[in-house]
Amino acid sequence: MSKRIMAYLGLGANLGDPINQLQQALALLHHSGGVSVRRISSLYETSPVGYLDQPNFFNLVAEIDTVLPPTELLQAAQKVEQCLHRVRLERFGPRTMDVDILLYDHRIIDTVELTIPHPRLLERAFALIPLHELTGEIILPTGQSLDEAMRALPKDQWIKKRDFSW
Ligand code: ADP
Ligand code: MG
Repeated sequence: MSKRIMAYLGLGANLGDPINQLQQALALLHHSGGVSVRRISSLYETSPVGYLDQPNFFNLVAEIDTVLPPTELLQAAQKVEQCLHRVRLERFGPRTMDVDILLYDHRIIDTVELTIPHPRLLERAFALIPLHELTGEIILPTGQSLDEAMRALPKDQWIKKRDFSW
């Protein structure tokens, strides 16, 4: 039997019906072969980073266990993105679902298509805060402490926990 690996995925959506798409993405992940969603963080609403002229995002982090190696997990994540993009593409444009691998076991991966821990994890409140909600303090494989990263977050990112029960 293959070893089950714990990993954390960051999900976000800001076009279409973001909360509904997040629910669909979790269901698709859970039913894609080799992935089980174990726990999900609270739902967070965040203002966009970078391109400011777009709707707020809804974000959460999912703790999964998986038998998929990292590159296959990335493919599964991209399949979910494509599936939800395709449904909404005509009406709402392309950014209806983003699925990022934040952490995979205690591994460091640095290839052209995949960097783990996710390269922007520590600077993005919408990834770090829900991850910290699930894990509490942990030391990343790259040596950083999540508590310290939380304290170092730039204060200009607006993020609000939303009451929502799935
Ligand atoms: P971002 O999530 O940073 O806003 P994109 O979703 O558009 O940007 O980036 C997609 C690309 O990032 C993919 O082609 C994928 O190969 C690459 N990538 C590198 N590391 C990761 C990771 N840990 N999780 C998801 N995608 C990653
Ligand atoms: Mg992405």
